[in-house]
Amino acid sequence: MPSTGRGDAGSTWEGLRALGSELEREIAGEVHFDEWMRMLYSTDASIYRIMPLGVVFPKTEDDVAATVALCTRYGFPMLPRGSGTSLAGQTVGEAVVIDFSRYMDGVVRFEPESGSISVQPGIYLGSMNLEVAGSGLMFGPDPASAECATVGGVIGNNGTGAHSVLYGMAGDHLRSVRVILADGTRAVFEEVSWSEAHRRGGLPVPGTPGSTAGGPRAAPPPVDLHSSIYREIIRIALDHADAIQEAFPKTWRRVGGYALDAFQPDKPLNLSRLIAGSEGTLCTIVEAELGLVPMPSGTSLAVLSFDSMLSSLATVPALLAEAPSAVELMDSMLMGLCRRHPDYSRRLTFVEGEPEALLVVEVYGESEAERAAHLERLERTARDAAEGPFGVLYLHDQAEQANVWAVRKAGLGLLMSKRGDHKPIPFVEDTAVPPERLRDYIADVLRVLHDHETPAGFYAHASAGCLHIRPLINLKDPPEVAKMAAISEAVSELVLQYGGAMAGEHGDGLARSALNPRIYGNEVYGLFERVKDTFDPEGLMNPGKIVRAPAMTDSLRFGPDYRTAPVATFFDFTADGGFARAVEMCSGSGECRKIGTGTMCPSFMATKDEKNSTRGRANSLRAVLSGAVSSKGMGDERLHETLDLCLECKACKTECPSQVDMTRLKTEFLAHYYKVRGTPLRVRLFGNIDRLNRIGSVTAPLSNWLAASYPVRWLLDRVLGVDMRHSMPTFHRRTLEKQYARSGRGPRASDVPEPARGTVWLLPDTFTNYNDPGIGMAAVRLLRAAGYQVRLLPMPGGSSGRAMLSKGMIKQAREVARANLEVWAPLVAVGIPILGLEPSELLTLRDEYPVLVPGKAADAVAGAALILEEWLAGMEDELGPALQFRSPRDYDEAHLLVHGHCHLKALVGMEPLLTVLGWLPQTEVKEVDSGCCGMAGSFGFEKEHYDLSMAIGAQRLFPAIEGLNGRGTVVAPGTSCRQQIRDATGREPLHPVEVLAGRLIN
Ligand SMILES: Cc1cc2nc3c(=O)[nH]c(=O)nc-3n(C[C@H](O)[C@H](O)[C@H](O)COP(=O)(O)OP(=O)(O)OC[C@H]3O[C@@H](n4cnc5c(N)ncnc54)[C@H](O)[C@@H]3O)c2cc1C
Ligand code: SF4
Ligand code: SF4
Repeated sequence: MPSTGRGDAGSTWEGLRALGSELEREIAGEVHFDEWMRMLYSTDASIYRIMPLGVVFPKTEDDVAATVALCTRYGFPMLPRGSGTSLAGQTVGEAVVIDFSRYMDGVVRFEPESGSISVQPGIYLGSMNLEVAGSGLMFGPDPASAECATVGGVIGNNGTGAHSVLYGMAGDHLRSVRVILADGTRAVFEEVSWSEAHRRGGLPVPGTPGSTAGGPRAAPPPVDLHSSIYREIIRIALDHADAIQEAFPKTWRRVGGYALDAFQPDKPLNLSRLIAGSEGTLCTIVEAELGLVPMPSGTSLAVLSFDSMLSSLATVPALLAEAPSAVELMDSMLMGLCRRHPDYSRRLTFVEGEPEALLVVEVYGESEAERAAHLERLERTARDAAEGPFGVLYLHDQAEQANVWAVRKAGLGLLMSKRGDHKPIPFVEDTAVPPERLRDYIADVLRVLHDHETPAGFYAHASAGCLHIRPLINLKDPPEVAKMAAISEAVSELVLQYGGAMAGEHGDGLARSALNPRIYGNEVYGLFERVKDTFDPEGLMNPGKIVRAPAMTDSLRFGPDYRTAPVATFFDFTADGGFARAVEMCSGSGECRKIGTGTMCPSFMATKDEKNSTRGRANSLRAVLSGAVSSKGMGDERLHETLDLCLECKACKTECPSQVDMTRLKTEFLAHYYKVRGTPLRVRLFGNIDRLNRIGSVTAPLSNWLAASYPVRWLLDRVLGVDMRHSMPTFHRRTLEKQYARSGRGPRASDVPEPARGTVWLLPDTFTNYNDPGIGMAAVRLLRAAGYQVRLLPMPGGSSGRAMLSKGMIKQAREVARANLEVWAPLVAVGIPILGLEPSELLTLRDEYPVLVPGKAADAVAGAALILEEWLAGMEDELGPALQFRSPRDYDEAHLLVHGHCHLKALVGMEPLLTVLGWLPQTEVKEVDSGCCGMAGSFGFEKEHYDLSMAIGAQRLFPAIEGLNGRGTVVAPGTSCRQQIRDATGREPLHPVEVLAGRLIN
């Protein structure tokens, strides 16, 4: 039975059940009290885990008011939540979670003239910025998590980011909030005069007859919660102004405690300032009015590289004197992990050598000349202040600057990509001290870490004295947990000594709230308790945060009791330390909850359901492996349901900073699941698609006629669940193998110039061979024109095994891989590459074979396997003169819209493909940031996935194609992407190789 810790009648299953039923009756939104959903909300980006009581997705303000009123009536705590990217455990608790990110995410009003916007709390900060970008405005504070953090959460934590020296904290831009108070009533907190505040609080207005200002107060008792809040806050702010002034940290970069320092008698009172940073402990925001700032006209960066971190920090005060817009630090641990990341390593173009620390200094300015002069001034000042020499790189190009910011913003996630049980965890990651004291403070922190023999990663906001310090701790080990507490204590002493704050932007949560009495002193901490009790007399709003907190070592996600069941895996997970460790790579950072950009995670983007995010899947796997939920282990249906909507797109392998590879984890899971439950017929059919293709090809055109006939499609739909709304692929009797054989004997053999430059193997994957042989022959023509002999790779395994893997048939795929490797390894040993056309098929050799059949043969084949365009791009100098392309004949040929295959984007990137298409003269090549097409092999064919599959494509890909109005050429290297585009838009996309071969000058 879950306990609220309150020990009253409300803390019973019956009470919860009754609450759940009443909520279901009362609200239009969703109510989930089941164990699985609660498990999904039991963690955030912090080190903590607590099962909530239930999860509610409100759709309207009335829903929120009803939820709060009902929870209060039943005596159950509640916890407002956005994306759950909090790092200190703010969004875990034994409470009814109210998740705003699903439905309450709209813009209510946007007034560009007054530079203000009113939004619902669940809107992402990044999405809100996109909405207003056309007006040249933006929200000033810029948390690195903006693409997935909600405005409610940014206010709740009073977040900010790299540009805080210019824009301050989120609360500084908060004009008003509409809230639901703890008793379910509504209120608006906005700027009012002190007189008005007194009136609202039922207090005599100062300076009016009857006022007793300065003497004993005899006001009428408050009539409601709203007025008692005004009444009490006025008293606290005025009566204790000196104590507050004295106790608060001597840095503006602070979010801990309640912001009592925001109220000054000579300035109007705005209670929304108190709500900023209150971590959902006072009331629930249902609408926020924010002030916006103009976007910068232009930016430039100087990247300063130092051999010593302390030397870099010594320059910060001098740099600040020259008014930069940002000064950010990155340390060598971060850069080292970045070098190992497939995506971010490509962006690390701005690092020269192996510096210990980088300072990224940004300036705003109208012209490049102005910015360059500003940066030079900054550099001169820094040289005078530095304790040693440093290197400088100026970056004016926007793309180069974007690389720097991408790496910096991924800092946290990159640090968390560290393998093993020692992780750079957040607990002292948010301290802030006055920047002029930062160098000495960090020197002392290094001493503390040295005394505890603990290395740490350092990065972030040097300009604000707020460095994210992440000591490497193994929370599964009791002495290490004690060490964490000891480091926290020691660092808090230093923070006090340096006049700093424990939380500079990430909040108190469970990690730091228990330190508040020490940081603020008893008097002011007592005031915090009064604030809490005034707003929340029953103590039901996100209890245990900011005041009356448990020990920071309670409720750890990976505590000393954490254990996982051993799993005998089908894949080789040695490099990860086993299957469970691979699952544990998910830190909960929530970047897989971003929408509208990149590919990770298509199922989340289309559903906004936590369960359908990479994080939701990793959390589910971890919960089952560690016994955090009652389950049937790897045969559990709910786990299957959670992983089922993963499209195996591999985007997380690259876009997740921790490189959580959900495709592989899902495949491994499916193998276990089917082992327990048997492999369904449809799974076996799709897994053996090469055999079906072979039969279809031999029996074509009869097979095509049958596959297109209504009765057969109806039968497939009803019996096998193959959705009849999709057309069936065409089978070709004249397969690539046959056409190639004829071409070798026929007149086209003369296409090969003598002597050939070399030989390449072409992978006749099942789709190219049976369904799209024309693409294969286009590749043969192109390669021969380039002067290469093309040989079709023999397929002793019958296929690459890709389709089997995507269906969890790992054992069968291993047999296929073994058979292939036996023949292929000697073929590539002489240095001949294997080129492929269908990305998922070719990249199986590269990404999966080494973990299916570990050993030299797999490594050799993986090393030789290249996407054809990738190989061409790598041979640009040699092939340039050989390959001549003609000009376009018409508009369609001159305008290419390219949609990349997910596996290609994840494992190779789009650069080679775009480079090669860029060889076509007078041709515009535009890549669409389309994410996943939604088809993902057989996923979209499966009846239960059809709607989601189409919804994914409809987000960005279909509108981009429809925007062409039937003109231009759609280019897509993936077989299933082409099928999806064909069925959804009626356009006939081409493979890039068809486009290239079609433009060859013979
Ligand atoms: C990779 C990464 C990078 C980060 N970088 C930064 C950074 O640069 N700067 C920064 O400031 N933070 C950063 N954070 C921390 C975190 O992302 C931010 O605090 C963010 O603003 C939280 O948004 P969220 O939607 O996830 O809120 P949540 O974590 O869901 O909630 C945050 C707090 O707000 C409260 N809350 C949410 N909605 C409401 C509501 N409607 N009413 C009342 N209270 C509410 C919650 O109860 C909670 O206490 C980072 C985190 C990660 C994982
Ligand atoms: S899957 Fe990756 S991006 Fe998503 S929460 Fe986990 S670590 Fe973060
Ligand atoms: S593989 Fe794709 S669909 Fe699956 S979790 Fe990763 S990003 Fe999401």
